[in-house]
Amino acid sequence: MLTIGCHLSSSSGFYHMGKEAIEIGANTFQFFTRNPRGSKAKAIDPKDVERFHAFCAENGIERILAHAPYTLNACSKDPHVREFALETMADDLVRMEYVPGNCYNFHPGSHVGQGAEEGIRLIADTLNQILKPEQTTTVLLETMAGKGSEVGRSFEEIRAILDRVELQDHMGVCLDTCHVYDAGYDIVNDLEGVLEQFERIIGLSRLRAIHMNDSKNPFASHKDRHEKIGQGSIGAETMIRIINHPALQGIPVYLETPNELEGYAEEIRFLRDSYRG
Ligand code: FE
Ligand code: FE
Ligand code: ZN
Repeated sequence: MLTIGCHLSSSSGFYHMGKEAIEIGANTFQFFTRNPRGSKAKAIDPKDVERFHAFCAENGIERILAHAPYTLNACSKDPHVREFALETMADDLVRMEYVPGNCYNFHPGSHVGQGAEEGIRLIADTLNQILKPEQTTTVLLETMAGKGSEVGRSFEEIRAILDRVELQDHMGVCLDTCHVYDAGYDIVNDLEGVLEQFERIIGLSRLRAIHMNDSKNPFASHKDRHEKIGQGSIGAETMIRIINHPALQGIPVYLETPNELEGYAEEIRFLRDSYRG
């Protein structure tokens, strides 16, 4: 079965997101743990969470994906910015235990001139301070497009971060189709080769989520501008190959395309119709 959903606004709580997901034909969804710009998080309402869990059990939502605010930078040059990322993520991980056993995805960060190696060291350092043996959440590193000084632009950089993390059992990876294509991994002409590289360098067992986005920009442009499925440089055919690829079965797929709910419903319908599993 295809596990597919999209990014939803979390402003009305978990139960509301669950209902919205089902309404658009999804059986999972992604949400920001707080305002994407990283302000203070709203207190979690245990009643809302309780209703949400009951709703999920009735409607077949088995997992969800949290996304950290994208403005956090765990490898900034500024120690205050790093500290803010650390505190925010640590707080998010505590809150994630209200919805145990799910994944929490974040952007590794930008090294802003310090060099990728130093960035990698700082990111792993942050993870080593916030990961707890008893947590049930898996923290995901997102593959990045390589815009500016972004860390995580190559599978090797992702691997290097993972290698430095002590509690590796709590770590995974989220592959973003727009980002890897922009980063120079040719999933259009050589999906097999890219997946082989992923397997060799990171290991497909680490792959816990796929962000499915088309790209507004050409191959290897290092831009990171998402496009609707089938309207960008990647194209619908590649997306269909991805969801049907034997090595990727069971990995949940999340749309982060420029859409309102109606557009998401359409893309989900299209991908479900194209699924041969
Ligand atoms: Fe992201
Ligand atoms: Fe993404
Ligand atoms: Zn992106």
